[in-house]
Amino acid sequence: MRNGVLRGDRQRILVPVTRRAWVAFLLAVVIVGGGGWFGLSAAGVFDRAQPTAVSSTPRATPPQTTPPTTGVSQPSVRPQSSKPVQSRAPAVTTAPPRASAVRRYVFPVGGCRADASQSHHDYPASDIFAHVGCLFVAPVDGRVDEVTRIDSWDAKTNRGADRGGLSVSVVGADGVRYYGSHLSAIQPGIAPGVPVRAGQPLGRTGKTGSAQGTPPHLHFGISWPTAPNMWWVRRGAVAPQRFLNSWHDGGQLSPAALVAASHRAYGADHGCRSYC
Ligand SMILES: [Zn+2]
Repeated sequence: MRNGVLRGDRQRILVPVTRRAWVAFLLAVVIVGGGGWFGLSAAGVFDRAQPTAVSSTPRATPPQTTPPTTGVSQPSVRPQSSKPVQSRAPAVTTAPPRASAVRRYVFPVGGCRADASQSHHDYPASDIFAHVGCLFVAPVDGRVDEVTRIDSWDAKTNRGADRGGLSVSVVGADGVRYYGSHLSAIQPGIAPGVPVRAGQPLGRTGKTGSAQGTPPHLHFGISWPTAPNMWWVRRGAVAPQRFLNSWHDGGQLSPAALVAASHRAYGADHGCRSYC
C-alpha cells in the first residue's frame, strides 16, 4: 500500500509537473524561436549597415621604412599599397560661407582611392598616389598662394624649382601653407589671391614635373608662408603624415602649432639646404 500510495502520489504529482514542463517547454520554444527570429532580423539590419561602418573605420597605417634617396619618387615609396586609403569624396562647396573661426580640414585628394606615403625622400612631404585626374582639393579655407601652370621640368637639369610641374599652393586661414604638385590640370579661376574653401577643387592629379617617370601622385607638402619662389620651403618643411591620416579619418588635427615651431627652429633662410 505504501508503494501504492507513493505510486499514486507520484502520479498525482507527476501529471501536473509534466503539464507544467510541457507548458514551460512550449513557452521556451516560442521565446527562443521568437528571440532567434528577432535576432536574425537584427543581424540582418546590422549586416546591411556593416559595410558603411566598416568603410568608415579608421585604418591604421603601419610605420614605413625610409625609402632610398633618389631624385624622383619611386614606386617603392608607396608604403600603403597593402592597406589602401580610400579618399573621401570632395566636399561640395555650395554651402553659404561659414565663420572663419570654424576650421575644417579635409583630405587633399577627393573622389579617388589615394595612398599617402608615410615617408618621403630627402625632406618632409608625402606622395599621395592616385590615378591621373583625381581632384586635388584645398585642405582648409584660405587663399591661393602660388600657381604654376607650365611644366618646365627637364630630366637633364632636374632643377629644384621645376620638379613640381604644375602646382598650386594655398595659405590656409590657420597660417599654414599647403602645396600640391605634379598636377595634370589646374582648375579654372585658381590664381594667386583667390579665396578658396576647404574641399574646393584646385586641380587634378597627374605626372608632371619629376613625376613623369613615376606612378601618378600628388606631392603634398606643408610649410610656413614665404616670399614667392622659395620652392625649397614650399615643397614641404614639416612632415604632413599625421595630419593627412587624421583628416582622412575625419579628424581635425591642425598642423598650425607644429609649423610655427618648425619655422622658429628653421632660423634664417639662406636658400635650399638639401636635395637642391
Ligand atoms: Zn614627393
